[in-house]
Amino acid sequence: MLWQPSLPDAYHAMSDAELAERIAARRQRLGDRLVILGHHYQTDEVIRHADFTGDSLKLSQLAASVVEQRAANGQKVEHIIFCGVHFMAETADMLTPDSVQVILPDLSAGCSMADMASYEDTVEAWDVIHATLRQSGWNGRIIPITYVNSSAAIKAFVGAHGGACCTSSNADQVFDWAMNGGTEPKQPGEDIKILFLPDQHLGRNTSARYGINTDKHTCVYDPRRARRGEPLGGASAQQLHDSVTILWAGHCSVHKLFRPEHCDAIRASEKHLPPSEKTTILVHPECCKEVVDKSDLSGSTEFIINTLRNAEPGSKWAVGTEVHLVARMVRECAARGVHARILSDCHCLCTTMSRIDQPHLLWVLDGLCGVGTAKDAPIDQEGGPTKARNVIRVHPEVRQHALLALDRMLAHTAAGTMKD
Ligand code: SF4
Repeated sequence: MLWQPSLPDAYHAMSDAELAERIAARRQRLGDRLVILGHHYQTDEVIRHADFTGDSLKLSQLAASVVEQRAANGQKVEHIIFCGVHFMAETADMLTPDSVQVILPDLSAGCSMADMASYEDTVEAWDVIHATLRQSGWNGRIIPITYVNSSAAIKAFVGAHGGACCTSSNADQVFDWAMNGGTEPKQPGEDIKILFLPDQHLGRNTSARYGINTDKHTCVYDPRRARRGEPLGGASAQQLHDSVTILWAGHCSVHKLFRPEHCDAIRASEKHLPPSEKTTILVHPECCKEVVDKSDLSGSTEFIINTLRNAEPGSKWAVGTEVHLVARMVRECAARGVHARILSDCHCLCTTMSRIDQPHLLWVLDGLCGVGTAKDAPIDQEGGPTKARNVIRVHPEVRQHALLALDRMLAHTAAGTMKD
């Protein structure tokens, strides 16, 4: 996690309404030079200021196309403020021209899942897994796949080693591409394994959908166990050998809060209801496999939103994903007579995403407008030097390799076939 300096107290002393008013005024002043992106998991206070809302990759792609469109109209986007977490801002930086500054309002808004896969641990795992398999005479290939919820450094590792990124929407297709050899066609008899980073649950759920027996043909490599002296991260040489998918021991701290018991409780309470009156359980594939297996439907954030928007009036839904998105969808559904609720009562909140709040958003906007930026100036003093605060820049070499991994995935989703 990066260090975020404390804001002057005056930012926290302002009311919500005053913050909102100032944010709106700064946005107006910056006009077309600014784009604000809001991830679906943001609070209502923040998301109302976003020009675009969506999931992480969609937002970065949208930002890139807005930059292009405005340039074609003679307007120049100079700043993108990403109300999301660190890896999302990195992706936006990689997909937009160098002239655009991508800003994360609070540098401590990381992602616990992305932080579970460090570059150093990944290099070590890659080497030790290969060495162990080769020792037993194995002569196949491992293709790394990383969920987009990972750092630019991990995306770069994957890109440099012939792999690709995936999202929760296209994980099946990327998985299939890899199983067929990835960048090089699979040779007859060649054994292909996948190293899936950093979300073991998405990796396991995708493997199961691909028809892999996840008890027998997946194993987990845990870098924490490797650091404690277990060289294969808790897996055995035999498990590595038998596995089609080697899963990194990462998870989303929000989605892991949904438990199979939550599904059981709904099923038990509705035992006597006719099928048409039962609740449909809809979850994100970052939930563990036991939850996905007990749900009726599972899919990405966009899939969840679209499913609820198309739900029949009178239908009942229990939704397993982040609480801010669910709360918004519950309100939207209620207006159409659709009954939706969160799957679990526990507060399934992305705490790092919630670090982005109105005070931090105003603080970065003030920097861009030169408000309160002169030395020792009060926070509302106009006319100071402009300051781009919290700019996220990916190193060019990292960017080059990470883009390879992103491009392989995008080539697949755009053209319907995977190309290198
Ligand atoms: S919801 Fe989970 S995966 Fe998404 S940003 Fe938060 S911790 Fe990371």
